[in-house]
Amino acid sequence: MTHAFNYGTGCFEGIRGYWNAGENQMFLLQMRDHYQRLINSCKVIKINPGLTLDEMCNITRELVRKNGYQEDVYIRPLAYKAEIMIGLGLTNLKDDFAIYLAPFGEYLDVTKGIRCCISTWVRTDDNAIPSRAKITGGYVNSSLAKAEAKENGYAEAIMLTSDGHVCEGTGENIFLVRNGNLVTPPVSDNILEGITRKSVIHIAKEELGIQTIERHVDRTELFVADEVFLCGTGAQITPVIEIDRRPISAGKIGIVTEKIQRLYFEAVRGENPRYADWIEPAYPVLSKRG
Ligand code: PMP
Repeated sequence: MTHAFNYGTGCFEGIRGYWNAGENQMFLLQMRDHYQRLINSCKVIKINPGLTLDEMCNITRELVRKNGYQEDVYIRPLAYKAEIMIGLGLTNLKDDFAIYLAPFGEYLDVTKGIRCCISTWVRTDDNAIPSRAKITGGYVNSSLAKAEAKENGYAEAIMLTSDGHVCEGTGENIFLVRNGNLVTPPVSDNILEGITRKSVIHIAKEELGIQTIERHVDRTELFVADEVFLCGTGAQITPVIEIDRRPISAGKIGIVTEKIQRLYFEAVRGENPRYADWIEPAYPVLSKRG
């Protein structure tokens, strides 16, 4: 009878832990940003997670240490309506918090790139189920689109807003390379305010001198773009090499995508000191290595 199970009244996050074998260390990526977004999601659906941001981080570190994995992991915290009752609403219901982790490799093919379709399922509007909040029930929309795409032989679906603009993937934000700039839909186009999206904008500007323009994107712009890629905690930086049976960047990974991908992987695995503040070690740090 748990409310969240019946009505989708929960919210969640996905956090990656990257195993660095050389340093014998698990690096947690942008954990505080994820918990800040969880707290924001909680505000939208009136959940009191009962924990502060610092407490959530402490629990996560403890969970990762106790499991002791020596491979990449995915951490899934959830805050949800735990009341045992029949009936709708959000107020005066018991809330709870849960967290688990599992070993996790690639979610999409980051090496070869993927083939996508435009979904026939339309993204839920901010006034229906807001995508800005990572609400469990909202992911029925993404699951319908993902299932349709996979059943039709595509790796991923690109979803449009109700007014027909490009929105995002089912679990990824989307970027286009056009005339040397990056273009991505604005946060007011029913996207999740992605943490990887922010990282990509940063890397492009600071490392490659490439500006990102946040604006509406038409469906057909995807077909004429120089490059397209998806990004997210799970998807990392995934090149898109075909959309609706039209090759993108000659069906190969584009040069800009490749550069951003390389810089991103260096940063998240703790191989670039300039990005040391993106990650934090989960395991005890030995004062002397070796
Ligand atoms: N959009 C949706 C719908 C998602 O589920 C995700 C994954 N959390 C993203 C975008 C990417 O967000 P992030 O980079 O913060 O993981």
